[in-house]
Amino acid sequence: MRPSFHPRLINGPFDDPGLYIPFIFENRAILFDLGDNQALSPGDILKISHVFVTHTHMDHFVGFDRLLRLLLGRDKILCLYGPQGFLENVAGKLAGYSWNLVRHYTNRFILNVTEVRPDRLISMPFACRDGFSADRPAETSPFNGRLLTEPSFSVAAVILDHRIPCLGFSIKEQFHINIIKDRVLSLGLQIGPWLKSFKAALFSHSDPASEFSVPGDTQTADSQTFRLGDLAAKIATITPGQKITYIADAGMSAANQAKITAFARGSDHLFIEAAFLEKHRTIASAKYHLTARQAGRIAARAGVKQFTIFHFSPRYSEMEHLLYEEAREAYRADMSRSV
Ligand SMILES: [Zn+2]
Ligand SMILES: [Zn+2]
Repeated sequence: MRPSFHPRLINGPFDDPGLYIPFIFENRAILFDLGDNQALSPGDILKISHVFVTHTHMDHFVGFDRLLRLLLGRDKILCLYGPQGFLENVAGKLAGYSWNLVRHYTNRFILNVTEVRPDRLISMPFACRDGFSADRPAETSPFNGRLLTEPSFSVAAVILDHRIPCLGFSIKEQFHINIIKDRVLSLGLQIGPWLKSFKAALFSHSDPASEFSVPGDTQTADSQTFRLGDLAAKIATITPGQKITYIADAGMSAANQAKITAFARGSDHLFIEAAFLEKHRTIASAKYHLTARQAGRIAARAGVKQFTIFHFSPRYSEMEHLLYEEAREAYRADMSRSV
């Protein structure tokens, strides 16, 4: 199975956190955290449709300016999500520049910003042509754990305690459709853009008995019509969707650990911060970070298939193997206990 999402940490484990998730077969990506993003090419950045910011400590938000600069003057709506206080943080960033020349831009560039509160989402647009004025009325909607729901996937958030509210995120595919190329060809069909509409029909739960038409090859062949369900049985396998979870900056309280474990449950890949070694637990606790042992244990208890730790304290420079070993050992110990 070729996964739909290909997550990669933007930087090394000692540098600013951030997870870039491009979508296969689509010119699109989403981003978790907005720290230093010089390692992303302008092309990578232009693909981003949604940015989810855990919290606005500098190492998670300093990349806002580069993103803004690359998108300025483009025809684009970028959606940004962040924790309590986020609207004010974004407005403050935007207020740091002069915008007297943007009013006559031909393209419409808009930032749709959403602040996540325990019980509600507060959203406000900041339009380039208005000089990113923060005067627009905010819209409020209930928060039920989900930030974004599209036919093929959704993004959820959990609110953690980092001495300030800090969000954890996961992206989950509704289910995974794998197209078997040989079977497509053996039906006399071509691989083409129609597969996108075929997948869209399955994700929107269209009636399997409904008709689905596949355009013919080049000039000569006629289109062929199938029942959607029959075509799916012939050319596709459908398996559970991929889930990726990202946790950056959370204190080690029992409440946080229980929340993260429940939130990450069943993830194919958990990206989780591990700033300190267990022997420096007191410092980790004072700074509201996890230790590598805690990260490994959470990964085991959440039953994730794979996990990656990152966001290491610079004190472990040249000694990062100690953090990896501690996390791996904790994961193994907890897994063997639960068998
Ligand atoms: Zn932080
Ligand atoms: Zn941080």
